[in-house]
Amino acid sequence: MVVGCRAAVLSGYGEPARIRDIQTDTLRDREILVRMAGVGICHTDLTAAAGRIPFPLPAVLGHEGSGVVESIGPGVDSLHPGDHVVLSFAACRNCRNCTGGHPAYCADFAALNYSGYRPDGTTTLRSGAEEVHGGWFGQSSFATHAVVGEAGAVKVADDLPLALLGPLGCGIQTGAGALMRVLRPHRAPRSSSSAPVRSDWGRSWRPLPSDARPSSWSIRCPPAGHWPSRSAPPRRWTARTPGSAASCAG
Ligand SMILES: [Zn+2]
Ligand SMILES: [Zn+2]
Repeated sequence: MVVGCRAAVLSGYGEPARIRDIQTDTLRDREILVRMAGVGICHTDLTAAAGRIPFPLPAVLGHEGSGVVESIGPGVDSLHPGDHVVLSFAACRNCRNCTGGHPAYCADFAALNYSGYRPDGTTTLRSGAEEVHGGWFGQSSFATHAVVGEAGAVKVADDLPLALLGPLGCGIQTGAGALMRVLRPHRAPRSSSSAPVRSDWGRSWRPLPSDARPSSWSIRCPPAGHWPSRSAPPRRWTARTPGSAASCAG
């Protein structure tokens, strides 16, 4: 069923997006329709709007959305109408990187997130007979409604402030991932405080108490070859207490 929605539609690179009444396409297998409650804006939206990331126009950007599931397509079994969800990028969930726990490095990431089309060549948005390109980072959430893959939506508790949760889908998870999975700060052995910060790769995380001010922290990088793009990362970095520059220690 085609559903009417309002969206910020970009029709020219470097031009402002304009609010237009358009439609979402009929849901396909494993797709859901989400009524947006809130959305963040990321520099990647601005970069695409300026034409520095090729994305076909007209298009709807926005990739930090949160909202309520309004309807579900065929085969959806993990979400139901009324569920509160946070949206994130699309990934195939079948390639080596996806099954290895790194969907952000999906072999089909560009096609699924930057092409403006579904894998079958259709668009999730339209304006009458005109195609409007959607699926930007799996969502295109600068709109009242977004068509999203079931796997790109994460159910959250109903009592959370839904309108504020959108940035979890990009900015916050990116920052948290960089800190917790790449930098992995933990207390340097010479620290005088006994409060643990982070023990080691993949192990328990305990936050730093608010009154603890260690004189130095050390940050470990992932093992060589852990990331596809890093064949020989530095094994260890040391960063002084906040305010001083980081330096490579080996
Ligand atoms: Zn982003
Ligand atoms: Zn994949």
